[in-house]
Amino acid sequence: MRLVRLLAVAVALGLAPFAVQAADVEPRLTIVAPDPSARTVALTLDACSGATDHRVLDMLVADAIPATVFVTHRWIRSNPAGLATLKAHPELFEIENHGENHVPAVTDVAQVFGLKTAGSLEAVRAEVAGGAAAVEAATGVRPRWYRDATARYSRDAVAEIKAQGFAIAGYSLNADMGASLMAPTVARRVAAAKSGDVIIAHMNQPGRAAGEGLAAGLRALKAAGARFVLLKDVETRSEDGPETTIAGRKAAPALPGAAPKRAKTS
Ligand SMILES: [Zn+2]
Repeated sequence: MRLVRLLAVAVALGLAPFAVQAADVEPRLTIVAPDPSARTVALTLDACSGATDHRVLDMLVADAIPATVFVTHRWIRSNPAGLATLKAHPELFEIENHGENHVPAVTDVAQVFGLKTAGSLEAVRAEVAGGAAAVEAATGVRPRWYRDATARYSRDAVAEIKAQGFAIAGYSLNADMGASLMAPTVARRVAAAKSGDVIIAHMNQPGRAAGEGLAAGLRALKAAGARFVLLKDVETRSEDGPETTIAGRKAAPALPGAAPKRAKTS
């Protein structure tokens, strides 16, 4: 009872001490009316910063699996060879905007999964515009989709990004939880994709086990007859989904220290 009273007092004072925070959204994206004759999925890969995972990229080229790749300006700068491979296969790769510096488009809390957030709409605008300019400079094509770092957004940021003319790229199947899962787990999750799923995974972490599992899962999915599509080629539906706090739970009072640990989207 003492804790409940403490919380009530803190909330009344506007202190919002624990998980009582403004709600952010993690939009869910799916393919509308996928081809009934084949399991149809959209593979989306984030290149946040860091390196190029050739276990993934080379397999996509060898097996002719299309992917929509979200790159940051940071990744573009440090991965000229990886970018050249993407650009050499326009039939396979759609290149979209993952921001200038991999900053979450969140204005209401200071950090998401350990990443410092934009913190203001001005900073969101700069992050989105900087990433878009970098993609356009690198490819000659203006991006149409935006995905921020962590795939989580504050509602004002969602409105701002849409006002800038970009569609927000959510997902429906998180294959690797920020490249943090072990290979067999990632392979199992990918191979279990349902028709209409938009899969999110990473192609910038060659040192982690997740990439090996991603490659294996995609091979299995293809062998099972799945059809891979690019986001630009299909009609999609985006839903904001249930509101979540930074701790990944409903906006209700929680005990201090009780927040579940979530993998950082790297
Ligand atoms: Zn990222």
